[in-house]
Amino acid sequence: MTTLLEFKQVSKMYGADTKALTDINFTVREGEFVSIIGPSGAGKSTLLRCINRMIDASGGEIMFNGANILEFKKRELKRLRTQMGMVFQHYNLVNRLSVIENVLHGRLGYKSTLEGVMGLYSKEERLQAYSILKTLGLEEQVYKRCDQLSGGQKQRVGIARALVQKPALLLCDEPIASLDPNASRIIMDHLRYISATMGITVIVNLHQVDTALNYSDRILGVNRGTIVYNGPPSKISGEHLSTIYGSEWSELQGELEVRDAR
Ligand code: ADP
Repeated sequence: MTTLLEFKQVSKMYGADTKALTDINFTVREGEFVSIIGPSGAGKSTLLRCINRMIDASGGEIMFNGANILEFKKRELKRLRTQMGMVFQHYNLVNRLSVIENVLHGRLGYKSTLEGVMGLYSKEERLQAYSILKTLGLEEQVYKRCDQLSGGQKQRVGIARALVQKPALLLCDEPIASLDPNASRIIMDHLRYISATMGITVIVNLHQVDTALNYSDRILGVNRGTIVYNGPPSKISGEHLSTIYGSEWSELQGELEVRDAR
């Protein structure tokens, strides 16, 4: 399979003192479902946000479709961002607008500022937005204001907004951290379906280790800004998890045992 994304010796400093990422190397193939796991402050969010340059890496190369995106200027960057959809923990929706209007915001990257400000969307774009909402089980919410939705529904709107961009890659930063277990399962099932059927590569930051193991083709385990595990969920051992999570591991183990016993 073709390589879509490659990190080569990527590092990120915040100011002079905080080294958030050190010598990060990994590749992601087209269509893969990859989860990034690790304790709070490990660098997961920084790593994910370097991929669409919401955060600028301090060193190394980030190759996307064969080009080093760290060298991209404004116009190339705008184009790059149309190829990468992003899903956020807190959804980042405009609450007073309707579901479909929020979804259409995903098309803004393709438009001039004027078209965007005027809200000029073609019939085709509207039909496409509607069709994606239907796939995500939101056809009855299309004209509702977003503040009338549950958290799980809001996150599905966030996913629809990312999909309407027709991205090659979906970046999801803690997409289920604010959701209950049932809504979380629905969101993860949709993400898995998207990766399996739409040929879209999915990279997800997750705090929930059991979810990451259940849904992913591959796990990247991050501890203190370095990758300490890169492989399939089936090969991950208790020892690996203890290296990834450090002192948080005993706590997590307790939680997993309680869940298994239920
Ligand atoms: P995670 O997503 O795994 O919780 P982050 O990527 O948010 O980790 O953070 C990694 C490290 O970088 C932490 O030490 C955090 O405090 C630091 N950090 C994150 N964002 C900033 C920022 N804007 N300025 C300074 N330090 C930051």
